[in-house]
Amino acid sequence: GKLLGIEGVNKTYQSGLSSFQALTDIKLDINRGEIVVILGPSGSGKSTLINAIGGIDRVDSGTIHVDSEDIVSLNDNQLVHYRREKVGFVFQMYNLIPNLTVYENIELAANISKSPLTIDELIDAVGLTGMANRFPRELSGGQQQRVSIARAIVRKPELLLCDEPTGALDSKISKEILKLIQQINDKYNTTVLIITHNEAISAMADRVIALKDGKIESNTINKQPIEPE
Ligand code: ADP
Ligand code: ADP
Repeated sequence: GKLLGIEGVNKTYQSGLSSFQALTDIKLDINRGEIVVILGPSGSGKSTLINAIGGIDRVDSGTIHVDSEDIVSLNDNQLVHYRREKVGFVFQMYNLIPNLTVYENIELAANISKSPLTIDELIDAVGLTGMANRFPRELSGGQQQRVSIARAIVRKPELLLCDEPTGALDSKISKEILKLIQQINDKYNTTVLIITHNEAISAMADRVIALKDGKIESNTINKQPIEPE
């Protein structure tokens, strides 16, 4: 079934007297449980799009239905609630707190978000069993990204939004992170959107969306183009 339905979304950034249209008339449907890759050159609107879906940024017009609720119409408090309840974010930079251990970094997110999983379950789920007491500086880049993924899934989110999650990792470690994201998708039926330049990730996606100049240039599923309605 459909999880995400986006229609007529536009977003313009104002800077001083000039303005820049980052998204133009975006229309997109995504089914529950899909792994979706978003491709496109730098500046094509990829981050703007996932930040809008995640309720980090607001759009100027259009609708973004998640589970039949239009998040564009939510007030600021409702949007905070939506983000906590339904969305997990993973970024290129791990943004871990350096003076907290693996356990404490995850616990902090779990306390904010009321986790249905225990911290130990989360540590196991991301393949960091036995590393609870390490500090971020004692971990490799791939392991730090695993901690940030654990933090993102504390609430078993419906949507996992990943902005260049393997951008700072070599190709072997990138594949391991990819495998972890697939496992999470499998285990919790989490719908995953990934911005990436990594071809191994696009190859395994259920759907690949290419953006260009703020517009959807193509939307392909299992290598078959989706017919326009
Ligand atoms: P991508 O993720 O594909 O690189 P972005 O969504 O980050 O693209 O940005 C799309 C365009 O919007 C870029 O031209 C960028 O410079 C512009 N932009 C992004 N954020 C802002 C902002 N806060 N203020 C002004 N312009 C912005
Ligand atoms: P990568 O292959 O991702 O570059 P590293 O070479 O950084 O990994 O780390 C390899 C292993 O060494 C990892 O298992 C990591 O846990 C461990 N490690 C790295 N730095 C430290 C450290 N400062 N203290 C303890 N263990 C470390």
